[in-house]
Amino acid sequence: MSVRTFDVVVVGAGIAGAAAAQRAVELGLTTAVVEAGRPGRATTAGAGIISDYGLEDGQLHRAWLDLVRSSTAEYAALMARLGDGAERRARYGVVGEVVLATTDGERQELDRFRHELDALPLGEGRPDVQRVTGGDLRAQWPAIRRDLEGVSISSTARVDGSSLADLLLERARTGGAAWFQGAARLQPGRRVTVHVGDDVLSGGTVVVAAGVWSPQLLAPLGVPLAVTPDRGQILHLAGGPEAADAPVLKTFGGPYLLGFPGPRIVIGATHEVGGTPTPEVRAGDQLAVLQHAFAVAPGLAAHRILETRVGFRPASPDGLPLIGPVADGVSVLNGLGSWGLTLGPMLGRRLVDGLLDVDDAQQPDLGFLSPMRPDAVPASIR
Ligand SMILES: Cc1cc2nc3c(=O)[nH]c(=O)nc-3n(C[C@H](O)[C@H](O)[C@H](O)COP(=O)(O)OP(=O)(O)OC[C@H]3O[C@@H](n4cnc5c(N)ncnc54)[C@H](O)[C@@H]3O)c2cc1C
Repeated sequence: MSVRTFDVVVVGAGIAGAAAAQRAVELGLTTAVVEAGRPGRATTAGAGIISDYGLEDGQLHRAWLDLVRSSTAEYAALMARLGDGAERRARYGVVGEVVLATTDGERQELDRFRHELDALPLGEGRPDVQRVTGGDLRAQWPAIRRDLEGVSISSTARVDGSSLADLLLERARTGGAAWFQGAARLQPGRRVTVHVGDDVLSGGTVVVAAGVWSPQLLAPLGVPLAVTPDRGQILHLAGGPEAADAPVLKTFGGPYLLGFPGPRIVIGATHEVGGTPTPEVRAGDQLAVLQHAFAVAPGLAAHRILETRVGFRPASPDGLPLIGPVADGVSVLNGLGSWGLTLGPMLGRRLVDGLLDVDDAQQPDLGFLSPMRPDAVPASIR
């Protein structure tokens, strides 16, 4: 059996693996990509909100904010690196967002959020934050309730994660990356080898970016990776007017709405942590997503359902990404949770840059995201 040798072998071609592969090729490394085509790929289901500001506790804290802001800032540079037409193909655009309160309780949360934003030491990076009402948004979102209150944030973007991953992979492949379709297996040895069908691949570094399927992939190496599937069901609607330039709408209770050219409106999404990753479309989840969306935009009831997607967000125990070496010659890029389309391109680049010691003193240190940190190790073996 012949072994083919590469500088980098990337296992998994979601946004994480695609970004790593594209960067490896860009840096002149011989690269192989292995992709199994699992139903429920998170990147295919991802809504595509690229925002600096999460609404959950802790998401305005400094280390997290620095990480997210360096990722969102990366997008413009990434589009430039990917060349002419990249923004159109990835459906990337800076459209802003509006965080809405749908209940009295959420109005208090909105005030707290606004104060926290005002208090952030952001300097010149401070976004334009304004108070708005549903009525103000009706020109762009005619389906929305007039009585809602919100704050608008200018810096937020949206992207079609699946199209962006396709574009990154296309660039990697035209730059010389070898493509292997099939489910990889890792075999321990003096050097870890990657087996796919009859092919055996050896890499200077094997990058495991196989989302929620990574723990089973790493098991033969004796590497425990505490990644849990967070199932998300999300709907795509069709109906005018075009909302591609309309701000992303977010709420504290979870539902969000965003527009893409088409016209296509994406409404999401459910969260169900744990269990086996089975990607069937569930009636109850469909109802929950629609009811939540109608609480913001009742006018959507007349829209047509285009499609429903289901994906598995790879969630780590402490909610932070897992990036770095786990064994000799094996690194992971995982745990991207609900933030993978935002963080994936930057982390994919940083992982590969780290292999070559590319100096990036301007970027935040990623040491706190080591997959070996105590909070990332499964409780059962701590
Ligand atoms: C409903 C929903 C909404 C979301 N919305 C947003 C959002 O608005 N903004 C945001 O930033 N993030 C969002 N996310 C999160 C984001 O989509 C994920 O964090 C991200 O896509 C994870 O990417 P990944 O590459 O790690 O995993 P995946 O995209 O799941 O890719 C893993 C890949 O590995 C492959 N694979 C598995 N096993 C093997 C094997 N043995 N051999 C070879 N290949 C294998 C799979 O086929 C798959 O293609 C959302 C996710 C969901 C589900």
